[in-house]
Amino acid sequence: MVKVKISDSCPEYSISINGVMLSRGDDFIDIEDSLELQTAIDNGYLETQQEEKSEEKKEEGPKVGEEVWVFAEQRHNHISRVVFELLGKAKELAAELNVKVGAIIACEKDTELSKQLISHGADKVYVIEHDLLKDYKNDLYTTAISEVVKQEKPKIMLYGATHIGRDLAPRIAQRISTGLTADCTGLHIDETGLFVQTRPAFGGNLMAEIKCPDHEPKMSTVRPGIFKATENDESRNGEVIKVDVKISEADQITKLIEIIKSKKKTVNLEESEIIISGGRGLCDKENFKILEELAGIIGAEIGASRGVVDAGWIAKDHQVGQTGKSVRPKLYLACGISGAIQHRAGMQNSEFIVAVNKDPNAMIFGVADIGIVADLKQFLPALIAELKK
Ligand code: FAD
Repeated sequence: MVKVKISDSCPEYSISINGVMLSRGDDFIDIEDSLELQTAIDNGYLETQQEEKSEEKKEEGPKVGEEVWVFAEQRHNHISRVVFELLGKAKELAAELNVKVGAIIACEKDTELSKQLISHGADKVYVIEHDLLKDYKNDLYTTAISEVVKQEKPKIMLYGATHIGRDLAPRIAQRISTGLTADCTGLHIDETGLFVQTRPAFGGNLMAEIKCPDHEPKMSTVRPGIFKATENDESRNGEVIKVDVKISEADQITKLIEIIKSKKKTVNLEESEIIISGGRGLCDKENFKILEELAGIIGAEIGASRGVVDAGWIAKDHQVGQTGKSVRPKLYLACGISGAIQHRAGMQNSEFIVAVNKDPNAMIFGVADIGIVADLKQFLPALIAELKK
């Protein structure tokens, strides 16, 4: 709609635009934008109220289409930790753009979920409640979330690069015709106000900066452990907006029959506070037993370089790095790892890094807080003996 009235330079006493009659002396009225309206404005027959509108915009603060959103992934009413990490980054981006942080959640019932999202940094939570959204189903989640995104038009939207996020984000990008950058390791706003997404390219030898100037929302996935989670602040206030979407069982192409939990002990590297990682410098698969003994004493999880995973010394779910897991524990102890860029990409955000390597020029020392030049065969048994004392 455009607010217009007849201008003093219009030669007629009254004119009809889009079937609406405007007469000289009438106040501004809203007229639907059309070619007919624009021609009358261009010819100087109509005066618009644009200046006042832009002042109004400044006072109102963030408008629809200007928010930074996070997809709040939940499983069995438990919000994934990566969501709190993304909210931390979303807060930074939103502060630079002077806009609000939104979170969108699909669930069966919003028990305490929106409250948790607000206390971790969301200013607004868009809640889609539906019996069919209890568990993740890609077709229904895509339809439901795309509908709300089209309606509310966020500027930026972040997803965890989890199994769910990696499945959902590209489907939504296709549905709403926008771009998506996967596995980002950095996100910022440049000096022109554009959103810049950094991710490794060409096997991690190059950091690519990707911009998506023509489409919104600009969307990224980010692996768990890349950004620091926000603190829980229960005194924060926020707005909860319940949104209705039209979905039905008929929209489901795939049917969820049963969820069967894996019996295998899973390695929870992303949430560990202490990680001891082994590389090819351990010299033998058997030497992982020494790392396990040490891990047992200090309560650590075992990580690994790709070198040892490829050698079959340990399972892939222990791998840290660009094609493994991104971690940020309080303590990361790297044993016999050279520190290739692809390994560093997954661990350099750790709070405190100790590296042991017999080569004083090993690249791992470049990111270590303490570097120990030693042979692991002597160092590890000596350390265990000291700790046992
Ligand atoms: P090496 O590079 O062989 O290093 C062994 C180190 O142990 C050396 O520094 C040596 O000085 C030291 N050492 C040897 N003996 C001893 C001893 N007795 N005591 C003390 N120190 C000793 N790698 C990852 O880790 N994670 C990834 O996710 C990953 N993704 C990749 C993705 C791509 C596309 C590519 C191309 C590569 C990727 N890599 C990844 C592989 C990476 O480039 C390295 O090859 C790998 O990290 C090397 O593993 P390493 O440090 O265990 O072995």
